[in-house]
Amino acid sequence: MSEQLEFQTEVSRLLDIVANALYTDKEIFLRELISNSSDACDRLRYEAIAKPKLISKDTELKISILFDTDARTLKISDNGIGMNKEELVKNLGTIAHSGTREILSQLENGKKDMALIGQFGVGFYSTFMVANKVEVLSRKAGDKFAWLWMSEGKGSYTVDEHLKDIRGTEITLHLKDEASEYLLEERLKQVIKKYSDHIDFPIMLGEGENATMVNKASALWMRPKSDITPEQYGEFYHHVSGALAMDQPWLTMHWHAEGTFEYTNLLFIPGMKPFDLYDPRRPNGVKLYVKRVFITDGLEGLIPPFLRFLKGVVDSEDLPLNISREMLQNNPLIAKMSSAITRKVLGEIQEKAEKEPKEFEQFWELFGSVIKEGLYDAHSYREALCKVVRFRSTGSEGLTSLEDYINRMKPGQENIYYLSAGDPETAKNSPQLEAFKAKGIEVLFMTDTIDEFWLPIQGDFRNKKFKSITRGAADLSKIDTNTKEDPKSENTNDLTEKLLTRLKEILFDEVKDVCLSERLINSPVCLVAPENDMDINMQRILKKSQGYEKTHQHILEINGQHPVILKLKNMVSNDAKSKIVTDTAFLLLDQARIVEGEPLKNPSEFVRRINQAIEKGLLVG
Ligand code: ADP
Repeated sequence: MSEQLEFQTEVSRLLDIVANALYTDKEIFLRELISNSSDACDRLRYEAIAKPKLISKDTELKISILFDTDARTLKISDNGIGMNKEELVKNLGTIAHSGTREILSQLENGKKDMALIGQFGVGFYSTFMVANKVEVLSRKAGDKFAWLWMSEGKGSYTVDEHLKDIRGTEITLHLKDEASEYLLEERLKQVIKKYSDHIDFPIMLGEGENATMVNKASALWMRPKSDITPEQYGEFYHHVSGALAMDQPWLTMHWHAEGTFEYTNLLFIPGMKPFDLYDPRRPNGVKLYVKRVFITDGLEGLIPPFLRFLKGVVDSEDLPLNISREMLQNNPLIAKMSSAITRKVLGEIQEKAEKEPKEFEQFWELFGSVIKEGLYDAHSYREALCKVVRFRSTGSEGLTSLEDYINRMKPGQENIYYLSAGDPETAKNSPQLEAFKAKGIEVLFMTDTIDEFWLPIQGDFRNKKFKSITRGAADLSKIDTNTKEDPKSENTNDLTEKLLTRLKEILFDEVKDVCLSERLINSPVCLVAPENDMDINMQRILKKSQGYEKTHQHILEINGQHPVILKLKNMVSNDAKSKIVTDTAFLLLDQARIVEGEPLKNPSEFVRRINQAIEKGLLVG
C-alpha cells in the first residue's frame, strides 16, 4: 500500500528555492550524496564494533555510482547503516536545523544568496536541482524490510514497503533534460575527483567487473601533509562541515601528536560564521575517530565551548574502540587530549594574530566574541587567551593586544582603561572619551556582550587593573601625559557650587548626583555610573536580554568650561528658580541620554523644550 505524506512546510519552501535557484554549481548534489553515503558507512562501522553480525554479510563498505543512458538515471548506493521507515520520513521529510525558518524567509525575500543556502546545507534536497524525480530505497542494517521513498519534490512524497537484498541505501535520480552531463562517465569522474577524493571508502564508478575506483579511499588526515593539496583540504573541510559548504577554511591545522598519547588532528577554522553559532544546543563540529573508525560527532569535553566553531577530525590511537559514547564523556584521556588540542589551537591562532594581523581581523570579526567566552569560564586557558584576545581602541587603527596596550601606557598610568558600548560606532563617539583622547591615554573598546561578564572576573592583566571610563571617577591627574590641556584647570568656585546644587534639586528624581567632570572637553555633559554600581552598558544589556527592570540612577557630569554651562551658571546666579534653568537642566540630561543611546523618558517634553530654546536663541546666543 502506497502511503502519501506531505513534506514539512520548511522542506517544501526549501525545495522551491533549490529547484529554481540559478545555481551554477549544480554538480555539488553528487558531493552531498557521497558525503551522506560516507557518513552512513562510518556509522555502520561504529555500530558493528558492538554488533559484528551487522556487517558479516558484506564487509567491504563502499559507495557505487551507476548511470543508465537509456533510462536517464543516475544511481548512488552504499552498504552503510541504511534507514528504516521512520528515519526516511524524519530525515527526508523534515529539516531539524534551528534557524531554518529565518534563513528561508531571507532567501524568499529575494536574497538568492547561495552562501546563505549553503549555511544550512541543502544536503539531500540538492538532488532536485538536477532530478525531477528521486527514489530512495533503503534497508536498515539488521532489519528484514526495506522501504522505497519517492518524490517529485513538489509538496509530497510516498513511502512503500519494497524488496532489497542487502542493507544500505540506493538513491535513483531521474535526471532533468538539462542535467544530461551526469550520464557521462568522464564528467562524473571529474566531479567525484574534485569533491570526494578524500572519502575514506572506495567510490566505484560503473557496473560489476567494469567498475573502477575513482578515489584514493584512504583517510585524508593520515596522509602526509606534503601529499595534500589546498583543494583537497578544502573539499575535506566541506565534507566534515556539512552545513557550511560555501566558504573556504580560514585556517587549516593538521598535526600528529606522539608521546604520552598519540592522535592525529585535522582541524579547520571556518571562513564564515555558522548561523547557529550562539545556539546553546549546537554541538561542536569536530568528529572523533578511534584508529580511523568514526565514533561520534560533537563530543562535549573534547573541544571547549569557546572553540565551538572548529570543524574537523580528531583520530585517537589510544582510546579503546569498543568504548560507548556515554563512557567517552568522562574518559580522562579525552580531557587530556582536549587540553593539548586547545593549547595547540590557541597557539596557532596567536601566531596568526602576530604574523598576519590583517588576516587575523577577519577571524576576530567572526569569532572574537566566542573566544572571549573563554575568559569568562575557562580559567585554565586564561593566560593563553589573554595573548590571543584583541580589541579596537582609541590608540590604533586596527586591533590591539593587551600586551601592546600595556607597552603604550603613559608613565604613572595604573589602569587599563576601557569603554563599554553597544557597538564600535557609539563607543568611538562617546563623550566620556574626550579627556582621554586629548591627553593621549589609550582606551580599549568593549563592544561584545560577553565583555561585561569576563571583565569583572579577570580584574587585571599584568597587575594593571581594568577600569571602565563610564563608571566612578576618572582621576587622570597622576598620569604624566605631557599635554597642556587639562579639563580640571578650573577651580570649583561659588558659581559652580551654586549651579551643581540647583541642578541636583531639579534633577533630584532622575540622577544620583551631579558633579564637575574630569573627562569632558567638547561636550557639555555625560552620564557615568557610580563607582560601586553596575556599569551603564551592563544595565542596558540586562534590560534588553532579561527584561531587567531595576533602574540604577546615573551620575550626571558637567563640563565646567563649556559655553552652555558657563551661561547656565550666570543664569542660576541671577535667578535660580527661573523656568529656563529647569528646562535647560532637563535638556542637558536628555542629550546625555541620547548620546548613550538611551530612550528619552518624555520625548514630547524634550521637543517642547528644545523648540523653546531655539526660539529664545539660547543655543545660538
Ligand atoms: P545532512 O546530511 O546535513 O544531515 P541531508 O538532508 O543530506 O542532511 O540528510 C538528512 C539525513 O538523512 C542525514 O543526516 C542521514 O541521517 C540521512 N541520510 C541521508 N542519506 C543517507 C544514506 N545514504 N544512508 C543513511 N542515511 C542517510
